[in-house]
Amino acid sequence: MNIAILSRGAQLYSTQSLFKAGELRNHDVEIIDPTHCVLSIEDGEPKVHYLGDEIDDLHAIIPRIGASNTYFGSSVVRQFEAQGVFTTVSSESIITSRDKWTCFQLLSRARVPTPMTILGNNRDPEKLLEGWKSFPVIIKLLKGTHGQGVILAESRQSALSTLETLNSLGARYVLQEFIAESKGTDLRAIVVGGNVVAAMKRQSEDGDFRSNLHRGASAIPVKLDYKQEALAIRAAKTLGLGACGVDILPSQKGPLVLEINSTPGLEGIENTTGMDVARHFISYIERNKR
Ligand code: ADP
Ligand code: MG
Repeated sequence: MNIAILSRGAQLYSTQSLFKAGELRNHDVEIIDPTHCVLSIEDGEPKVHYLGDEIDDLHAIIPRIGASNTYFGSSVVRQFEAQGVFTTVSSESIITSRDKWTCFQLLSRARVPTPMTILGNNRDPEKLLEGWKSFPVIIKLLKGTHGQGVILAESRQSALSTLETLNSLGARYVLQEFIAESKGTDLRAIVVGGNVVAAMKRQSEDGDFRSNLHRGASAIPVKLDYKQEALAIRAAKTLGLGACGVDILPSQKGPLVLEINSTPGLEGIENTTGMDVARHFISYIERNKR
């Protein structure tokens, strides 16, 4: 099969891992930087040009669209979809999973448990906080990644000044209950084709409540229990993501879905678990595109 990995970083661990996994299975794999694609619609026909050549022979794509490239990157994915090319994550699911509130709304349709979260229209932070009873509170930018954009406000006063600052910057955010009992740990499950193929437990660096590996957290492999596994699979299905990372926060109320990532990093999970996660992406394509 002709498979393209849509990635801006040909040398990145995840891109390389997927590339090698595809080649090992004798596929023709190429890495396409989506930012260099030119999209056109000619006589109603969707076309993609890349570095001067038309690309019209792909069977499948593995999008690795970065948060700074959501609009154009998902547009490239949609163009390939219009050509009938199979994709591990749809253009729509890339967009909806990137916005934390939209993601929570979709999860709530399927009654997937998430931390208590509220969205206001940013106009009146004082009003928004009036109804909020428990502190500390988490304030989260809708489009943050790597733990940047997640703020822990200890009191109503610090929450108010933070919201006012965010308003002056025109940022969008949600308020979220702080799950203190998670103590800086969370679970990252990789779901591919409706199965959890690898999972790890991440523990934040001392003093940080954020367990992102980009923030220096450490990780160990885990086997999810039945409830956690079912939750991860349901979350991926609800968002319509064929291959993704699901973050789960353990809480007194049971496991809660924190976010879903359409472009999960493979380095941390493969090194932590020793699993060949990239191989699962390739076999998922093989199962779905004959
Ligand atoms: P990002 O997209 O930046 O990774 P997350 O929502 O996943 O944002 O939050 C980053 C980390 O912060 C999580 O992995 C978790 O460790 C911690 N965290 C986020 N929300 C909460 C919460 N409501 N209660 C406790 N810890 C949280
Ligand atoms: Mg996260």
